[in-house]
Parts: sequence; C-alpha cells; structure tokens
Amino acid sequence: MISKKIKGFFYGADYNPDQWNKEIWKEDIRQMKVHGVNVVTLPVFSWAKIQKSEDEFDFSWLDEIIDLLYENGIYVNLATPTAAQPAWMSKKYPDITKTDMYGRKYKHGGRTNFCPNSPNYRRLSKKIAKEMAENYKDHPAIVLWHINNEYGEYCYCENCRKNFIKWLKEKYDTLENLNKCWYTSFWGHTIYDWDEIEVPSALTEILPGRLGGRDGTNFQSMAIDYRRFMSNSILECFLGEAEEIRKITPHIPITTNIWGICDKLDLFKWGEECDVASWDNYPSSKDHPSLISFRHDVVRALKGGKPFLLMEQTPSQQNWQPYNEQKRPGVMRLLSYQCISHGSDGIMFFQWRQSAGACEKYHTALVPHVGHENTRIGRELTQLGEELKGLEDKIIDSKIESKIGIIMDWSNWWAVEYSSGPSIDMTYIDRIMKYYKPLYDLNIPVDIVNPNMDLSKYDMVIAPLLYMVEDKAINNIKSFVEDGGTFITTFFSGIVDENDHVRLGAYPGAFRDLLGIWVEEVDALYPEMKNGIVVEKELNMGKDVYDCNLICEVVHSQGAKVLGRFAHDYYKGYGAITENSYGKGKAIYVATEPEEGFIRELMKKYCDENKIKPILKTSEEIEVTKRIKDNKEYIFILNHSKKPQQIDLEVKKYKELLKNQVLKGIINIEPKDVFILEEY
Ligand SMILES: [Zn+2]
Repeated sequence: MISKKIKGFFYGADYNPDQWNKEIWKEDIRQMKVHGVNVVTLPVFSWAKIQKSEDEFDFSWLDEIIDLLYENGIYVNLATPTAAQPAWMSKKYPDITKTDMYGRKYKHGGRTNFCPNSPNYRRLSKKIAKEMAENYKDHPAIVLWHINNEYGEYCYCENCRKNFIKWLKEKYDTLENLNKCWYTSFWGHTIYDWDEIEVPSALTEILPGRLGGRDGTNFQSMAIDYRRFMSNSILECFLGEAEEIRKITPHIPITTNIWGICDKLDLFKWGEECDVASWDNYPSSKDHPSLISFRHDVVRALKGGKPFLLMEQTPSQQNWQPYNEQKRPGVMRLLSYQCISHGSDGIMFFQWRQSAGACEKYHTALVPHVGHENTRIGRELTQLGEELKGLEDKIIDSKIESKIGIIMDWSNWWAVEYSSGPSIDMTYIDRIMKYYKPLYDLNIPVDIVNPNMDLSKYDMVIAPLLYMVEDKAINNIKSFVEDGGTFITTFFSGIVDENDHVRLGAYPGAFRDLLGIWVEEVDALYPEMKNGIVVEKELNMGKDVYDCNLICEVVHSQGAKVLGRFAHDYYKGYGAITENSYGKGKAIYVATEPEEGFIRELMKKYCDENKIKPILKTSEEIEVTKRIKDNKEYIFILNHSKKPQQIDLEVKKYKELLKNQVLKGIINIEPKDVFILEEY
C-alpha cells in the first residue's frame, strides 16, 4: 500500500492551480469529486512561484489550495518543483544551465535545463526540498513525495568534466588501469594526466547520428562510462533532495516519475533509491499493446515486483507526437486496466485542467477547454473513477507471479547501441520484444530481471542480445542453469566484458562452455535479405523451414545438440539453434533472428518442458494477466481488438468485478472491454 490513507487505488492528476484563479479552484474541487479523484500531484513546475528570490519563500497559495483539497477529501502527492528553476536563479548562478553535446551552453528556458553537477543547482534544489518538507511535515494531506519530474538530461560542461574525472579516479584508481580499460592504445589515445580527460561529446569522441540515427563513438568504453556517470550524477540530484526530505518526513514514501523506459538512466539503480516506482505512459496509438505491457513490467521490476504507480497518462490526446490521435472510446479505460493488470496501484493523469496557453494547451486533460465534465472523455473518467472505487482494496498490494525472467541491462543497452558493427538494426529493446511478444501472445507472464539478480525463482531465463556481461553475471547465470534452469540466449551475446573488451578465444566468450558451441563468423544481412532455419525432427514444430534475418552466425557445436540448421549460403547446414545440457539444466542458443512464428513455437516447447502454462488460452488480441493476493487470484482479460471475442473459461466459475456478474464456460467480451475475474 503506497499510503495507509488511501486504501484503494490512487486516482488523480497533476494539478497546476497556479495557472488559474481561486474561483476556478472551487470548480476544480467540484469536478474532482464528480470523477472520484482522491489524490493530486502538485506543484511540479512552481519553483518560480514559491521562491521569488534566494531568501524569499512563499507557500501561502500552496497552503491554501492544499487545505482546500484536504477539506474535500483529496490527498496530495507533493512534488518538489526542481525540474524547472526560476529565471533569476539561472541568471544569478550561470553554472546551473546545461551544456549540450555540441558544447553549446544553454541560456535560461525550457525545463530540465540544469547541469546535474552544478554545485548551485544541487544546493538550491536541496534547499527547496527542505523548506517544503519543513512546511508540510505535519500536513495530513500529504501521502507521497514526488521529486523533480522526468529526469534524464545529460550535460557536458566543465563542472561535469571535473566530476567525471573524480568519478573515474574512484573507479579506476590509476591512469594505467584507466588506459587499459578504455583501450587507449588505439589511435594513440594514452592519457598521462587525469586533467587531459575530456568528456565524450560531439566535440571529442561521439559521432552523432552515425549509426542509423543513433550516436556512434570512437571509444565505447569511455562513452558507456559517461552514461554510467551521468545516470549516477542525476541520481545524486534526486538523492540530495530525498535525504533532506527523509530527515524530516521519514514516514512518507518518495518517488520520481520516470519518462518511459528511458535509455539515459540505469533504472535498476534508481529503483534501489525510490520507495515507490512510478512512470509516465505515453504510447503512440501505433504501439502494439505488448510494448506497453513490457514497459509496465520493466517498471514493476524496479522495486523487485512491488506494486508501482502510473504517474501520468493522457485522458485522450497528446500534443508532442507528430500526429496526435484521440484515444478512441474505451481505450483510456482499457490502457488504465492494462497498467493495473501489470502491477500498478493507481491511475494518474497529466494534467487536471487543460492549459489555456503555451505548448501543452492541446494536450488533453481531465477538464477540457469547454470547462465541464459533460463530454465523452468526462463520462469515461467518471466511469473509471467509480469502477476503481468499487474495487476497494481487493487488488491493492497484490503481486504477479512469473516463472520466466527476461534479462534487461542498461550497460548492455548502451554497449549494444554504441557498437560499430555488425548491423545498425541490432537495437536492444526490439530484440527483447522478439521474445517478450510471443509470451505475451500466449498469456504467459514474465518478469524483467537484471543479470545479477537471484534467478532461482525462475524456471526459464531469456537473455536476448546480452552482448556485454560481467563475470559476476556469468557466474549467476551458470549457477541458475546448473541448478536446473533453462537459459535461452541469442546471437552476439556474451561477447564483451564490462569495459566493452572482446572476451578473446571465440564467441560467445562468456557463454561458450555453458552453450557448448563456438562461433566462427557473424554475418549481418541487409534488410531485404533472409536465410532460413531447417528444423530438426526432434524440435517438432509447425513447419519444417522458417525464415530468419538480421544476423546469421557460423556456429560450431562443441557438445551442443543442433536443433535447427541454416538453409542457405556458405553456412548452409551449420547450426542455427543449439541446445546444451549443463548441470541439471540446459542452455539454448539462437544464432539468428527467426521469424515470429518460430520464436513462438520455441517458447511453447520450453514452456511445456518446464510445465509453464498460459493463464488462459485466447486469441492473440486478448491480453490475460493475473495478480495474486492472500492466495486469491484476480484474472484480467483485456480485449485490445476492434471486434467482440470469445473466451473459454474452461471449468471454473468466476465473479467478474467490474460489472458484478457471474461468468463461466464460453464468454463474450466486447471490443476494448475489460473483465476482472475472481474465482467464485
Ligand atoms: Zn554540467
């Protein structure tokens, strides 16, 4: 439970009352009650309003609105306003605004325009956090702290350079070690004095847009270190504020809303420091529902499976995509339950009242420009509020149980996407989705895991494109297999250590003995090229030959069984899929990127072997997930399609909680509708 004060789901929005007069505040409260809002987030961007100068703090307007909210039964998720510093502050302390990768020093403007290593930003953001904690420490409305907003901007200034050098000294101890780990013998880059180190930027070692629009680099180990350092610097900003707050209100949990599955921050490290994980879900209407599910699963992983909070979504239209389609009727409700079905204990929106000016005025809000609730979106919001209230605390604090872990790792993400070769199409999240989606289609739940975590609770661990892997993780994965686990990995995995140095001997270095193979060559196919996988009888799949593309590796077995072979080219007949027994378990290698149907069959085979069953068997357009609390199961059925669908509930009888109906046997679910089933 995020807060004992709110027994059911958090339901509310970012609230910016400083854009409106006090008459409107009263109308806001009336409409919040209509929709059943029980919590609002404020004052996310009000630093300039609260602090007019260095020594002047004015909380009077904030006190007034927080009191008014509380008198009306609405709680507050109290935000520190540090994502947008006041103009006077940028002027007075020029070290605060950031410097971009091209060396351009920013002037005041926009938001998240601060250098995470600016001593003045650090000092002043701690100060406002402390002032706020002092001011609101006894206020009964406060249920959660929301530090900053959507962290994730990097800086390349002189302060960052100095701090980078400090960080590197701690990490490498000696220049000899740093030179070795950065491989500076290449292109005569040896460093003889710490002060010779420059930050990797477009002026030094970064090659913007070089890799199919992504940035390349001359020195991967240096560039990856800079990402580790930046993620950590930004985390230090968060921790600076959190420490001040924790001293004063240790009983109130702290979160920060992360922006999507952001590649700028090592979110597993952030998860360790937050009390509650929360994130902002802004999918494009073209995103497949499985991609949204995956993102929810990543956020759930940050606190080891504990419920998270959806901090922002839009009721309908966004404003910042190239084309901002309205969410069709029922879609907002469907996406809200999808989020809950993956572990959220609340649904929050951006924002409460739609702005009349500036760049977010066409981003829909709970109160649209027309000003009242008698709209399609208004009615959908009221319905959702009533339904969530009706669920009370039944599902709150429930967990998702999975027997499959899919490995995700930020350093690996950076290493994969900075890699110059073998293919620019070798992007990390897309490779994970190749394995996530078939399991999603089969209604088999998965957890996202980090390679150093305890894997013993899983029967299967899948590591798509685990290119960079440190020794500790290798041993962790090996023990998992030794103890009976099934490990599946793909092409270009196990290749480099944490410094992005190739593990010499043969690919896939880290996993050679585990997989019982060695890889002689890695072929990268043009997008229009393909090869095939001829399936051995033993694999017993739907077809004899499947397509594959992207990467094809020339694999030699050293004890592994070959389950599928390449169909064409000079490596025709070489293993494309291998399986190796290791300890009590097995390790499977997929040396190419097979078509979706193949991966689905492969997932089915190993799920069957491990007795992992779908929650329910349905068409692929139906998503089924399950949350469990006190040994009671709650099954979510979501119809993402545009047509009614039939589902066989088999022998059990269920109570459906949203429409309060009893369901059994073959049932129908309307397009975009949701069922939550409890065993009857
Ligand atoms: Zn900086």
